[in-house]
This record gives sequence, C-alpha cells and structure tokens, in this order.
Amino acid sequence: MVTPRPASAPGHRTAPAGPTVRTVLGDLAPDRLGVCDAHDHLFLSSPQLPGQELADTAAAGAELHAFRAAGGTAVIQWTPYGMGRHAAELPRLARESGVTIVAATGLHQAAHYGPGVLEGLPTDPAALFVTELTEGIGAITGDDPEPRPRAGMIKVAGGFHGLDRHARRTMTAAAEAHRATGAAIGIHLELGTGALDVLDLLCGELAVPPDRVILGHLNRSPDPAVHRMAAEAGAYLAFDGPSRANHGTDWRMPDAVAALCDAGFADRILLGGDTTTAAARAVNGGPGMRYLLRRLRPRLELAVGTAAVTRMLTTNPARAFAAEWP
Ligand SMILES: [Zn+2]
Repeated sequence: MVTPRPASAPGHRTAPAGPTVRTVLGDLAPDRLGVCDAHDHLFLSSPQLPGQELADTAAAGAELHAFRAAGGTAVIQWTPYGMGRHAAELPRLARESGVTIVAATGLHQAAHYGPGVLEGLPTDPAALFVTELTEGIGAITGDDPEPRPRAGMIKVAGGFHGLDRHARRTMTAAAEAHRATGAAIGIHLELGTGALDVLDLLCGELAVPPDRVILGHLNRSPDPAVHRMAAEAGAYLAFDGPSRANHGTDWRMPDAVAALCDAGFADRILLGGDTTTAAARAVNGGPGMRYLLRRLRPRLELAVGTAAVTRMLTTNPARAFAAEWP
C-alpha cells in the first residue's frame, strides 16, 4: 500500500528555481533544509560490522523522531550503493517523521562489500551514479505510482594515508558523475587521514571544484595543519562525531573546530553524527542522531559561540549539498 503524498511535500517535478538539495521526496530550496545532520546513517550493512547492521525500519523511524524532538530537521545518509540503503523506505520515513532525508549513491572501500557485489558492477561505475542521482535508486516496480527516490550526493572512500586502485577508480567515477549532475562528493577518510591525497586527485587531476568536495571523519585525525590546508584549498570539512567508536580523538574535536573558526573557515565546517552500528542508536541506549544536538551542539557553542554553530548546522550544509541539477 502506498501512502498518498501530502500536497505540501516537494515532488520530483515541482522543484524550485536555482540550486536545490535533492531529497528522497524531491528537490528542496536550500533554505528549507533547516538543522541538518550532515553525515549519518539510517540503514547500513557491512561485512566489517557483522551483527551490527542498521536494518530495522522501526528503529530508523524512532531515531528520526528522537532527532526531530531534539530540534533536527534534516539528515544526510551517506550509505552508498550495495550497503543496504533501504532507499525505497526512505520517502515514507521522511514523511512520517517530518525530517528531510537525502540519500547517497557512490561506493565504499572494497572491504565493505560481500562476495559478488562489486564484481557485478561495470568497470566504470559513473553511469550507475548518474542514474541514481537523476532517475532514482533501485528497480522500477511496475504499477507503483511512487517515484523512486533519487540520490542527492555521491559518497566514496579513501584509504589509510593513501588511495588504492579501487579508491582511484571510484573517485574518478565520482568526478565524472559530479560533472554530469553537479552533485557534491562526500569522502570517507580512513581514520581521518589522506585528505590532501583526495584533494590532489579529485581537484588537482580530475578538476572537481573544491567546494563540491566534503571531507568526512576529519575528527578522527586531529591534525590542525592538515585541517587548515584542506580548508584553504576550499573543501568542506565534516566533523561527523564524536561517537563512542572514536573515543580516542572525540574530545579534541571542539579545539579543531575552534582553530578553523579562528582562521576564518567557519563557513567550511559541517557537523554530523555518523551512527554506524545498531548499538549506537538512541533507541538501543547509544548516543544516536540526537547526540549531535543534545550534547555536541552545546559543547561546540562553548568553544565557538552559538551563531557559528547554528551556521554549521544550517547554512553550511544547505550550501554544501545544493546543486544545479540538470
Ligand atoms: Zn558514515
């Protein structure tokens, strides 16, 4: 059964003029994004996290409601192709929770796929990324009147202090898909490392504008010089934690954010929760998505002030994810 779409909800064919954020319910004017968790997961499955899959739709709904109750209005899900995105369920979750959801296309590191998943893909996955960004994710199901949700960003991954062949191949495809669509490219940096290698490849060799690149997990490698160089290059810096999984570096994040603000790069910073395991969900006793607003927001406000943190949660993600879609 398909729930009718409310008249007020954005649809695929009622996009406002100018750059928009491509959500699972259609294209949205950037200023309607509101308070945004710029890197998180409602659904995620990886052989690297056995038994901790985010695959429970009811738990995903509860997580969204808790995030909404804490003042959140938008979540960017960075789960790429083949990792259990549950894309078909995202529109209903967005409608029922009142939280805007953006889905991703792209590919993670090869280690995050079970046997056969990557082997079934074309050598150049750019066409797959473009299809998911422009037409929709998943198969067209006969008489279903609900449009397939489209991806609104491309997620790819680097390696620990470097880029292997798989990373170069997927980033090359991401650059091609970016050129075709304008979509932002979000990067999983392994333990927060390799940011400058990624920028050399994407922006140097492949000519992606730096302000279309979002470097994720920088909080896991609290090197202020690298953060500064990445910000000077013009990229967005995502501090997507703290979470219990990265306890060794979590406490250094406010200082890293403050250093970037002091250097004049507050407009480059994005904030996220990056819930990657079932145990980390609020519904299971973990910090969950709401941690970003209940605990991290006031902590960062002590470091850099309320106005700067508000911009990191609102206007920065609106600018980072909006694109002039073809
Ligand atoms: Zn993530």
